[in-house]
Amino acid sequence: MNELSKSLLRKKANSIRSQMRSIGQMIKGSIVIRMLSCGKENCKCRKGILHRAIYITYKEEGKTKTIYVAKEHEAEALMMCANYKKMKELLHKLTLTNIEIVKTSRRYNVRRKGN
Ligand SMILES: [Zn+2]
Repeated sequence: MNELSKSLLRKKANSIRSQMRSIGQMIKGSIVIRMLSCGKENCKCRKGILHRAIYITYKEEGKTKTIYVAKEHEAEALMMCANYKKMKELLHKLTLTNIEIVKTSRRYNVRRKGN
């Protein structure tokens, strides 16, 4: 690859890095929305208007955990999970770009030990 294409790739990588820096807080997890009834006698959920509950599943020490998100933090939690997805996509793009920079078309003959 010529130096001009490499410098364009470096520009692209830098632009991806600055996009990554502009991403806000993140949670590596998935949002789960459940419709529930609370069990209270005179509640609207008795008539079929269920309560919406938001959970996040995430991994901790290899185990999948699920936590309930407090109502006042729902919007924030959704945003943090969306930000992580965005970061993951950018990291993938950055990897592909940087792979182009470091790889070579030159081939070497690999000799095995003992030959
Ligand atoms: Zn209810």
